[in-house]
Amino acid sequence: MPSYADVVMQDVIARNPEQKEFHQAVHEVLSSLGPVLDRHPEFRKAKILERIVEPERVVMFRVPWQDDRGEVQVNRGMRVEFNSALGPYKGGLRFHPSVNLSIIKFLAFEQTFKNALTTLPMGGGKGGADFSPRGKSDAEVMRFCQSFMNELFRHIGECVDVPAGDIGVGGREIGFLFGQYKRLTRRFEGVLTGKGLNWGGSLMRPEAAGYGQVCFVEEMLKTRGKSLKGARCVISGSGNVAQYACEKVLQLGGKPVTFSDSNGFVVDEDGIDAPKLAFVMELKNVRRGRIKEYAAKYPKANYVELDGKLDHNPLWQVKCDVALPSATQNEINAVDANNLVKGGCFCVSEGANMPTTPDGVNVFLEANTLFGPGKAANAGGVATSGLEMSQNAMRLNWSREEVDRRLHEIMINIHETCRTTAEKYGTPGSYVNGANIAGFLKVAHAMMDQGLV
Ligand code: NDP
Repeated sequence: MPSYADVVMQDVIARNPEQKEFHQAVHEVLSSLGPVLDRHPEFRKAKILERIVEPERVVMFRVPWQDDRGEVQVNRGMRVEFNSALGPYKGGLRFHPSVNLSIIKFLAFEQTFKNALTTLPMGGGKGGADFSPRGKSDAEVMRFCQSFMNELFRHIGECVDVPAGDIGVGGREIGFLFGQYKRLTRRFEGVLTGKGLNWGGSLMRPEAAGYGQVCFVEEMLKTRGKSLKGARCVISGSGNVAQYACEKVLQLGGKPVTFSDSNGFVVDEDGIDAPKLAFVMELKNVRRGRIKEYAAKYPKANYVELDGKLDHNPLWQVKCDVALPSATQNEINAVDANNLVKGGCFCVSEGANMPTTPDGVNVFLEANTLFGPGKAANAGGVATSGLEMSQNAMRLNWSREEVDRRLHEIMINIHETCRTTAEKYGTPGSYVNGANIAGFLKVAHAMMDQGLV
């Protein structure tokens, strides 16, 4: 007889056809829950699973704007408010041509459990648009953001739904979005996180996801008596998460050797040191150039153009001790995971959301690789957004040391919660099960307490 979780999974597939990424994210959580559902028959009676896989609200809207040539452009915007059992909806906005409902639903679903793990009072949500900021002028990005907010403002608020950045949405976009929200509502409130430091932002928010991801590595390594000192690290992506992961690796004495973007990757056998990282930050955050330019600036580095026809990404053939996938979903498949293991990689910490396919995860688990799933390993980003919300609510700013201390404490707690929960439910060492079960229990208990809403 199929289990309760299997029945719900089949229903999710039937009711949301074609939403592959969403199916993948739901399956990943449900497949950890068997022992929990056995111990808590009340969840089945209250149809907690059926409710938890259904977003509370989905908003989809037209975003018309004019480009610099005067041409009219139309994009599709959306916000998925998935679960508010633990607090106002919280989660980023993604501007990327690949954005669709399946991707935003998977991200919002994941976000619900990730936010629960932080122990801060935040529900789960995510949003975005199929708009690419790449190659657009600042004026075009501003007009797009203003048009996007002309609809989104109706659905958000400091106690309702608090978006942040994600792929394609950084400080520049958050500024334009906030300005338009303020103009429309006449309210200067903490409705977005990732704001500029002199108008309500939190110190350490830009660093948080990457720093937290590497802190999670340190905690995992400690369980085997290892550390990052001297460890070769392969990093994918070259955006916000990747840059600060690299910075933290350097602080802890590791050796980052790669960066990538959607066109290709660079390998620098001499190591990416602080001045080289500063070059990448300027290249990506100011000049908005391509990672290929790194190899032009540092000729000893090698640039490899991606070939979409391959069944694998040669980036993951670069030998390393630690892998830090920090670009996008499904960037490590089973072939890539095998290549990493063969190359000696013994620790993977997911900075991106769901960067490893289910087959890839199985390869890591079978090889006894330390594997930190995104919803635990990259929770430092949203945790610091939660700290930004607290500071906004109190109308004061904490020092860098204060935010850093709290972030560090939260990451250590998340690691410990995942480790002990995995043990308690019979799968010691599985951070995947630990994260899924601990996040689920917190949300499920809150839903039970709040009745049928
Ligand atoms: P950025 O936009 O700053 O950087 C994204 C990076 O990933 C860029 O180098 C980009 O290259 C690359 N990338 C994006 N899409 C693809 C693709 N389809 N194929 C290959 N490379 C791609 O985003 P972030 O650094 O903020 O986000 C990276 C990941 O981390 C995402 O999965 C996000 O959800 C996750 N995350 C982010 C948090 C945050 O606080 N920012 C918090 C937690 C998770 P290119 O320039 O060519 O597009």
